[in-house]
Amino acid sequence: MKRVYLDYAATTPTRPEVVEAMRPYFTEAFGNPSSLYSYGQEAKGAIETARTKVAALINARAEEILFTSGGTEADNLALVGVAYASEGKKDHIITSMIEHHAVLETAKFLEKRGFKITYLPVDAYGMVNPDDVRKAITPKTALVSIMHANNEVGTIQPIEEIGQIAKDGGAYFHTDAVQTTGHIEVDVNKLGVNLLSMSAHKLYGPKGVGALYVRKGTRIASLMHGGEQERRRRAGTENVPGIVGLGVAAELAGEEMREEAERLIGLRDRLTQGLMERIEHLHYNGHPLKRLPNNVSICVGFIEGESMVLNLDLDGICVSTGSACSSASLEPSHVLAAMGLPPELVHGTLRFTMGKWTTEGDIERVFEVLPKIVAKLRAMSPLLKSPR
Ligand SMILES: *Cc1c(COP(=O)(O)O)cnc(C)c1O
Repeated sequence: MKRVYLDYAATTPTRPEVVEAMRPYFTEAFGNPSSLYSYGQEAKGAIETARTKVAALINARAEEILFTSGGTEADNLALVGVAYASEGKKDHIITSMIEHHAVLETAKFLEKRGFKITYLPVDAYGMVNPDDVRKAITPKTALVSIMHANNEVGTIQPIEEIGQIAKDGGAYFHTDAVQTTGHIEVDVNKLGVNLLSMSAHKLYGPKGVGALYVRKGTRIASLMHGGEQERRRRAGTENVPGIVGLGVAAELAGEEMREEAERLIGLRDRLTQGLMERIEHLHYNGHPLKRLPNNVSICVGFIEGESMVLNLDLDGICVSTGSACSSASLEPSHVLAAMGLPPELVHGTLRFTMGKWTTEGDIERVFEVLPKIVAKLRAMSPLLKSPR
């Protein structure tokens, strides 16, 4: 059975070119970048080349890129780093109710330690209203953190506007751009951010490596203490192969992004329309236009998302309910709840996210399989006994 993978927002396969570029740094070029002899300096050089490539993808300067163990660490470092650096002066952070858990749980951690957090609501499309940021911001606001695009419903936020508001209010601005970097244009100057998170495994690089962009002059405290790596901001011997992989993945993404986004928009719209035509009682999630090129999120009325995911898996199709993180816990999505969806609809969520190896044939396969699964599950559904 051919596997149809439609969960690129959860993770992407590492591109063969990236694996090839990483390989020597496990073997011949294994040196420690902090060593003075040439072995070490070779590894150090590879890190700096990767830094330049990552910087180029987001229109930053190489020295503004700080490598981390992934998107989660980048988010933690942005929030905790700014909070700790502002201690005694500013004690307020603004974020939204639809952030990734890496931001939300970090905000909760800071809240328990005395920081005040404002969690902004979103509209029915999952969009933050910039006016709400304007109203929430005070002279005590250290940081505004709003994600670039949501990983569950794909809505792209008005980051440029929010960036201007944060700047006018004298607060730093962070965006979690893990779902957008390498997929749509991400330009740190246009977006007006001080800090930006990215992750390699969401753009065809390896897992366990990412980066935080830190605009020159932005004050953040370190979370890791030890050696002097990453300009003393993140101690610990660098993940050299991983960083090289992120660099090459970033370079290739920059070259192919525009064309690939066009192709994915075609597949996305075809999948959306085809599902609407074939299945009754569907609810479309997220903004119809301001959305990621590869994301289709729907709620299927009267059935459970998990049952559909497991049945699709029997036919070799990988999709997720809300997000990879919430599907393990079976907790209803905080994103869809914030958008005002009733719990019974939230439980029927399916997220399809497409990527480099998705074909028209994959979409056709979904059309063949999913309507039958929906019909079968609805026939057994106690929820359908009392249709609206
Ligand atoms: C995947 C993801 C993260 C976490 O990145 P990891 O590298 O897996 O730690 C953070 N934010 C968003 C929006 C994501 O999609």
